[in-house]
Amino acid sequence: MSFDQLQAELDQRERDALYRRRRVLDSAQGPEVQVDGKRYLAFCSNDYLGLANHPEVVRALQQGADRYGVGGGASHLVNGHGRAHHALEEALAEFTGRERVLLFSTGYMANLGAINGLLGKADAIFQDRLNHASLLDAGLLSGARFQRYLHNDVASLEQRLAKTTGRRKLVVTDGVFSMDGDLAPLPALASAARAENGWLMVDDAHGFGCIGRGGRGIADHFDLGQDEVPVLVGTLGKAFGTSGAFVAGSSALIETLIQFARTYIYTTSMPPAVACASLASLRLLEAEDWRREHLNALIARFRTGCEQLGLNLMASPTPIQPILIGEADAAMAISAGLEARGIFVGAIRPPTVPVGSARLRVTLSASHTEAQVDELLEALGQVIGAQVIGAQVTSTQAHGALPG
Ligand SMILES: *Cc1c(COP(=O)(O)O)cnc(C)c1O
Repeated sequence: MSFDQLQAELDQRERDALYRRRRVLDSAQGPEVQVDGKRYLAFCSNDYLGLANHPEVVRALQQGADRYGVGGGASHLVNGHGRAHHALEEALAEFTGRERVLLFSTGYMANLGAINGLLGKADAIFQDRLNHASLLDAGLLSGARFQRYLHNDVASLEQRLAKTTGRRKLVVTDGVFSMDGDLAPLPALASAARAENGWLMVDDAHGFGCIGRGGRGIADHFDLGQDEVPVLVGTLGKAFGTSGAFVAGSSALIETLIQFARTYIYTTSMPPAVACASLASLRLLEAEDWRREHLNALIARFRTGCEQLGLNLMASPTPIQPILIGEADAAMAISAGLEARGIFVGAIRPPTVPVGSARLRVTLSASHTEAQVDELLEALGQVIGAQVIGAQVTSTQAHGALPG
């Protein structure tokens, strides 16, 4: 087969306004960034608490490197499991109120490892249609019977749970949905899973740091313990501002993953200095409630401003505040219009979101000021104004597309 065919597919993607391009960031993460040589006010990072460039986190990384060097050197099961990794696991177990925690190098790998460590062909997996790509990929890879239920629709889940057989049944959901910002109805999902003798796994990549007491995430927000949410996943690259991920749960779960999670076993441990930095950011995240309070004030301010502009927001109480546009080309045009005014907001298109639900994914951070949010609102008013009113897409639930 000729590579010309690849080029033809790339050209078609470009015509469909789905082509993706990278920007080169010349600065640290923060409210203002330098991109391809120009300064922008940015509303697209997942650094929700402003910790990615915090001096104490930077210093912890430097001190960690002084002490432990740079590379992890080996996998955790050979001799790459260091004191810093171990200390971070213990601190995260206490933070999440779980017996134990296991670190992974990324969230993608944590999800792949946890699901494939627990399930095989004899089992069944049930996923929200809007789950993160890493969860969907993990489910497909496991070979388990694969069912997707309607977004946040417990009845739709119950129906599928009742009619599907399997040695093990695993219900999987994002805690905070990464592209919509809404919360999963965890208490009802937990009851549904238990009623069928199933387990609930929650990927709270966007909830840790932002919701729950002291930023303890969605399980804490709903006051659900290890029995109700036996498999809890968090990532360190978002509100923690560092890199890596973890699975929290019972000792039996963690030992099972140490034995069977291939993305844990067959990969080099994260640099120990990154574990040191993550421990420093955990301390800040727990101690500094003002970050969440300020963030919540910004969220309220942004939502009020958008309502006044007649923009189509989603039901999100979190720092993820998407503005639904509809078609990919329209979302791209609006993103370009904002960029021309010095504001950086990502347009999210299929297949990351369902066809017809392209959106601007605005994310807010505790490092933003009220004046910066007002600046964004003013630019949105200028660029979108009347365009969006009427382009209502009321539901993203109907057309979820699997990646790949
Ligand atoms: C970002 C994200 C991941 C992946 O985490 P990384 O550490 O970036 O690989 C997994 N799940 C969800 C819901 C996410 O938003």
